[in-house]
Amino acid sequence: MSIAENLHHIQSQIPENVSLVAVSKTRPVDELMQAYEAGQRVFGENKIQEMVTKWEHMPKDVQWHMIGHVQTNKVKYMAGFVALIHAVDSLKLLQEINKQAEKNQRTISCLLQIKIAKEDSKYGLNENEALDLLQHPLLNTLKNVRIVGLMGMATFTKNERQLDEEFGRLQKFYNNYKTLFNFDILSMGMSGDYPIALKHESNMIRVGSAIFGQRKYD
Ligand SMILES: *Cc1c(COP(=O)(O)O)cnc(C)c1O
Repeated sequence: MSIAENLHHIQSQIPENVSLVAVSKTRPVDELMQAYEAGQRVFGENKIQEMVTKWEHMPKDVQWHMIGHVQTNKVKYMAGFVALIHAVDSLKLLQEINKQAEKNQRTISCLLQIKIAKEDSKYGLNENEALDLLQHPLLNTLKNVRIVGLMGMATFTKNERQLDEEFGRLQKFYNNYKTLFNFDILSMGMSGDYPIALKHESNMIRVGSAIFGQRKYD
């Protein structure tokens, strides 16, 4: 199936309130343009330099989401245009995003990454660490960042019970605190597990290989 057909197929399966982030990491600009021409406007990348290069080459109405782990010293390269940063996990990173957003006279929306997978390799905060960060006294002084929700990556597995458990835990945490902290985005679900994430009220899915095909490398 073509990129356009894949996109239409996924769009037809997801509720209207759910946003689809087309994860285009490692894919060339001509493939992103095929998705763009099929109507896709939100793209996700996991490396800042690659996102900057694609931003330079793509139409300016694309919304760029940084979905990968962010190094503090690289925030400046994307601060002028990034629409949402999914994987924030420290006050230090929020302070740097705030500083660079201010320089660009912008407010940058961010999600806190919550660790839900059993695998050690995944980044993210546990629930108590997230609550500490959300209630940190310095957060109010960061006028140019806004924490608009939470993001999680489940274990890479086909075990539906485990996926249910991992997404279910983040769903519960999100619902418990969404009013208090004004959350409106719950980013969870990838090519292999988005139907399960949707059962758990995800309203933003990040899908790569189901749109563009299998990647050769990450
Ligand atoms: C690569 C990646 C995705 C998309 O993965 P697919 O399995 O290709 O859909 C989603 N989220 C993050 C954080 C990623 O790094």
